[in-house]
Parts: sequence; structure tokens; C-alpha cells
Amino acid sequence: MNGYGGQILRVDLSSGKISKELTPTQLARDLIGGRGFGIYFLLKEVPKGADPLGPDNKMFISSGPISGMLIPGGGKCDWTTKAPLTGGYASSSMGGHFSAEMKYAGLDSIILEGISPKPVYLFIDNDKIELRDASDLWGQGTIAVEKMFKEKFGEEYQIAVIGPGGENLVSYACINHDYGRQAGRGGVGAVMGSKKVKAIVIHGTNSIPVADTQAYRTAGKALYKACKDAEGLKDWTRYGTVITEIWCDEVGALPTRNFSAGSFEGGKNLSGPVMREKIVVTDKGCFGCPSPCGKYSRSKKYGISVEGPEYETVGLLGSNLGIDDIEAVAKANLLCDDLGIDTITAGNAIGWAMECYEKGILTRKDTDGLELKFGKVEETFTVIEKIARREGIGALLSEGVKRASRKIGKGSEKFAIHVKGMEQSAYATHNATAMLLAYMTCDVGAHHNRAWAITYDIQVGREKVVPEKVARVIWLQNFRPMFDVLGGCRLQWVELNIDRELYVPALEAITGIHRSWEDMEKVGERIWNLTRMYWARENEGFGRAWDMPSPRFYQEPPKTGPNKGQITKLEDVNLLLDMYYEQRRWDANGLPKPETLVELGIQELVV
Ligand code: SF4
Repeated sequence: MNGYGGQILRVDLSSGKISKELTPTQLARDLIGGRGFGIYFLLKEVPKGADPLGPDNKMFISSGPISGMLIPGGGKCDWTTKAPLTGGYASSSMGGHFSAEMKYAGLDSIILEGISPKPVYLFIDNDKIELRDASDLWGQGTIAVEKMFKEKFGEEYQIAVIGPGGENLVSYACINHDYGRQAGRGGVGAVMGSKKVKAIVIHGTNSIPVADTQAYRTAGKALYKACKDAEGLKDWTRYGTVITEIWCDEVGALPTRNFSAGSFEGGKNLSGPVMREKIVVTDKGCFGCPSPCGKYSRSKKYGISVEGPEYETVGLLGSNLGIDDIEAVAKANLLCDDLGIDTITAGNAIGWAMECYEKGILTRKDTDGLELKFGKVEETFTVIEKIARREGIGALLSEGVKRASRKIGKGSEKFAIHVKGMEQSAYATHNATAMLLAYMTCDVGAHHNRAWAITYDIQVGREKVVPEKVARVIWLQNFRPMFDVLGGCRLQWVELNIDRELYVPALEAITGIHRSWEDMEKVGERIWNLTRMYWARENEGFGRAWDMPSPRFYQEPPKTGPNKGQITKLEDVNLLLDMYYEQRRWDANGLPKPETLVELGIQELVV
């Protein structure tokens, strides 16, 4: 099959049985790859009500047709599973080189099922595939383990590894790769940990068949040329995602002190230029990337090196904790990566705990003697370690803010910043209703990358609740995740503003199938509806109540910085949802109508 590795690897960890299946041609035609494959397998293979950390849950790792190809950013793979953090759908995109290596090993998906009786790592070198003992690696950090594997097998082997966070089943444990790329959200690392899989080591040397070699070369060159000629390339490469920080601070979107505000008095110390000058050593990109956003940084103050921090980490482990020292953020970033926990949820959980402490809801007795106030750097480092090891206050925070606030009560639920149990990523949404709606309706919880609608808010009028904003969010939700389906990076389109039409001939040359963006958006819409049905299948009573945001964004004005247009009534939040459900052709409770599923041709996949 042109553009595909052609095989799916299935690893039954309980029995140790390893088998391969051919990638179904019809599945590739209908849902293309990446998270399209992920949700298909999740619905089909994981039984209703499965414990996310039990033997019935599975991990589906899928590349896509542009993974491993000379297409800008063709280095992303999708990790889909039932989320320990939310009890719903988890799909986490990981950059680096793992996805390309999967394709070269002939694999479109890797399925991990069951639970191993002892710690193992999965070794894949083309057709040599083995489960090997990892007992001596259990307890070690991700960086040391990756380094050890690289030394043992060679630089060309790609490694995905969990840290103590995943082993200890922290509900937002992540998977680390290439020393600084993660499948970060929803607790995918805890699922690996529950299966006792410390790492996957992969290498392949197969070639990938393409439909039209000459057309592939021409289309690939046109894409690279567009990136090279892009006006924004220089600044994007210089600052990476942290380029956004100054803008977010100015427009009131920088999460500050547990999202109580959208601008931070210390924000100027966390900017891209400050980071570049103080700590960045070099740039680092994923497979085939012409616009490397990764920044390799070194802090003399703390004696550490880390890939990062990215904007999300700066926002959540910096301003959201009242910390204005980029070197401290870099160290917190390294701790999270090495211990294997998601920086976004960790920053939310610690921010929530700091607010609880300052309000007297948590005391020194609850925090193991730590003075857990905003701005406290050493205390932040200590709490990150405690979370990964689930010790003391860390045990509470390892559950995520939804469960932690329900345990503690005393009004702390009101400032637990999440949707569907997933903590909000680094855009404060007091003054951005489309972005608020994007978080409310995101398919994994309050994650930003499905629909980055905040610039549209500014263009249209921030507090406006109008159908155009809803339509924009839906369009983005159908379209942007298609990059996760194709196995590529969206940032060349988002940040360099290259023409998305350039991908159409490239995809056709690789797969031999012509797909316009309208066709692909339809696939995106199918996937969006499938994930919604998965949430409903797994959670009794699922519906509108699950889409509600933290009241902080419509009941409290931002504490610092200008208020640039906030909705203030619950009715407006509901109005946003009414319009959203109607435009999605869902019922008033937010569930896809039977006729919508029929119209999209997916009714049989959701029974
Ligand atoms: Fe990776 Fe960044 Fe390049 Fe995207 S832009 S492929 S995330 S390095």
C-alpha cells in the first residue's frame, strides 16, 4: 500500500505473544492513519467500561502517510488509549523521529495489550521483535535510560520511554522521546506503566513505497521551498513556541497564578528573547523539519541541560506559578521530563495547590511542611518530585485537579482549571470566548492544539458570542487534527503560514489517492464525532455538563492586566454550546444525532 509501512504489530504483554497483521486497506482509505486509526481501534478493541490501567485497555501507536517522508514535519505519531486522567479519549501527538522509524520498520501501528508479569522493553529492529527484561531499568529517569539505549544499540535507534511517573501510575504521566519530545497528555505514560512497559526501542531500514516518485519529489520540494521562503521562519526558529509569550502577556492570555489573571508582572523575564539570550544553546527539530522549534537550553545556575522549555511549559511552570525566572522554569521542565510527567497538568496541579495554600484550604500540615506559595521555586521542584513518586502532597496532586479538588472540597473545585478532567493548557480565556469554546469542546479535555481560536477572538471582538466564532472553532477542530492523522506537524502551516494546498499533491503522489482539503476535513469531522461517541459510551450521563469550563473564566474578572472583553453570565456559556451543538448537528445535550452519524457514514463504528 503506497505511503504505508503495511503492517500492524500486536504485542500481547500478558502472554508474550507477538504477531503482525496487514494494515487494512479500507481503514487507510476511510480514516487515513494516526489518530484516525487510533479511535477506530479504541472503539473496536477496548471493551466498554475498561479500567484505563487494567489489562483490557490498550495502547495504539500510529504513524501516518507523511511520516518518514521528505515532507516538512513528517515526524509525528499518535498515541491513543483510554485516558487515566479523564476516563475518556486520550490522543497525544509525539514529535521527534519515532514515527519515521516505525514506518522504516514496516509498521503503521503498534498495539500494546494485556499486562506484562514483569518490567519489559519492546525491542524492534525490522523483523526482529522481542520483549526484553527491563527490571533493572524500573525506577530510572527517562534521560538516563534513553542515553543507555543509544549507547547500547546506536544513535539510529529511536526510544520512547516512561519515567517513575508512569511506573507509579501518575494520572498525567507522559512518554519521553528524543530527550525532550513527549506524548504528553491524558496519562498515556501511566498506561505504559500499568502494562509494565518501560520503553520501546525501534529501528528500521525498509523503504516506503510511493505512488509517483517524480511527483513526490516535486511536491516535497515545493513544500520545503515554501517553508524556506516564509517570512516568519527566522523568528520562529530563533525563539520556537516561546515566541508567543510576549503576545500572550499583552493580550491577557498568559496564565498567571492559577489562571486568576492573563498577564504577569514578571512576564518580560520569560520571553523568547530573554530565554534565547540566557539559556538557549542550540536549535533542535523533529524528523525532516525545516523550522526547528525545539530549543536546547543550559542553566548555569542549576547546572542542568534540557530540551525546552516550550511556551506551554513557560506558561504553566512559570507565570502560572508566579515564577519569573526562566532558568527555574528550565529546571522544572527537566524534572518533569526526566520523571515522566506532563508539564501542563503539573503546572496546573501545583498552581491549584498554591492557591489552596494561600487561601488557607491547604496548610503546612497538608503540604509536608512546604510553604507552597506562588513564586516559590525550590518548593515547586520538591512538589514535582513528590508527584512523580506519589508521596505526601504529591499523592493528592498526582490525581489531577478535578479529583484532587473533589477530595479537598472547601470551594477549591471552583478554581480547579480543567474541562472533562484535563487541565487547561497555557491560554487564559477570560477574554476569549472562541478559545474558551475550543477548550470546552476539545476531544481530550482542555487542550489547545485542536483549535487555536484566540486570534479570531481578537479579530471579531473578544466577548462576542456569535455563530461565526462557533463555525470557526468547528472548522479548526475538523481541519487541524488532520495533521495528526497524516502523521505530520501542523506548525509549518500555523506558524510559517505556508499554503495548505501544497500538501494535496504531496499526499496524492505518496498514496496515489487524491484528497482535497474538503475531503480531509470530512475525515476530521468523522473522527471528531467518533471521539464524542467514545466519551458517551464510557461515561454514563455524558453530555453538556461535561463541556462546562471553570467558572473562573466567566464569573471572575482577571486579577491583573486589562480586562479586554469577558462574558460574565452562565447563559452566554450555554449559548455558545447551543450554537456549537446545532452547527455540529448534535442534540441539545451535545450528543451526535443518529442521522448525523448516518450522514457521516460512521454509524456502524459506534455500536
Ligand atoms: Fe517538530 Fe517543531 Fe519542527 Fe513541528 S516545527 S516538526 S514540532 S521541530
